[in-house]
Amino acid sequence: MRMLVVGSVAFDDIQTPFGVKKNVLGGAASHFSIAASTLIEPKIIAVIGSDFPEKYLKYLAKFGIDTSGIEKSSDKTFHWSGFYEHDMAVAHTRSTELGAFATFEPKLTEEDKLRQVLFMANIDPVIQYKVLKQMKNPQLVGLDSMNFWIESKKKDLWKVIKEVDILFLNDAEVRMLAGESSLIKAAKAIQKQGPDIVIVKKGEHGVMAISHNHIFVSPAYPTEKVIDPTGAGDSFAGGCMSYLVANSQPGKKISDDLLRRAVAWGSATASFAVEGFSTDGVAKATEKNVEGRVATLRKLTSF
Ligand code: AMP
Repeated sequence: MRMLVVGSVAFDDIQTPFGVKKNVLGGAASHFSIAASTLIEPKIIAVIGSDFPEKYLKYLAKFGIDTSGIEKSSDKTFHWSGFYEHDMAVAHTRSTELGAFATFEPKLTEEDKLRQVLFMANIDPVIQYKVLKQMKNPQLVGLDSMNFWIESKKKDLWKVIKEVDILFLNDAEVRMLAGESSLIKAAKAIQKQGPDIVIVKKGEHGVMAISHNHIFVSPAYPTEKVIDPTGAGDSFAGGCMSYLVANSQPGKKISDDLLRRAVAWGSATASFAVEGFSTDGVAKATEKNVEGRVATLRKLTSF
């Protein structure tokens, strides 16, 4: 199955207790696709400005990512600026400048429309929906979002969530979206609206995956080297979705066992993402490296 990814491709300004980086490669689709490229070759649908350097596109292409769906606009590139405090658990947004994404009208090629898998990484839910509606017969559709869109475009976000198979959100976002303080109740309430699988990301505390009559909990891989958590959620989703795509057949339901293995793969992938600034960490998530950490996770959780 071939995957299409829509989402932000961006410049990030990041401040963590370990340093400050400006104008580094960021964006949910960038982190997601590099993480997924360990197992598959995704194609990105996005827009960049005339200020976006060719070297970043070449860098993405080096991973086998198809960048031909990244449109160039005369506007500015999406720019996110944020910082983390001592515990690095929460990203604090300083500013979000949509730039070219404010007027982006995604246009898929005929080949794009026929792809079997769509992942809508974090971006305006109106754009996500426009891409989804152009797909002819997707077999697997995943979605990620964040507090920024839950607060500003909740209705549009619900419209797209209702049509997805797998939803990825962090714990605070799940509570915020459902208006429910019990995390399990909140995830189940969202599940009732459409997604078969709701994956609740809990940063260094791991992940909880809820499908029908099944809950799986995975810890995060206990890395000691946490430099920059930006993109860890996207990298988790990229690892998890790519594992599902690489190990399932079109039209076949995702078994609980496959979901568990995919979540473990995502957790191991995300642990590389936090070990460097920008996409430097996730770039080290080779198949062999991820397999090693999955084996450690298995040992850690067996009793
Ligand atoms: P994560 O840390 O996994 O939640 O993802 C962080 C990435 O998301 C950064 O590289 C940002 O460029 C990107 N990002 C931040 N805010 C937004 C937003 N409102 N919409 C889309 N992408 C965003």
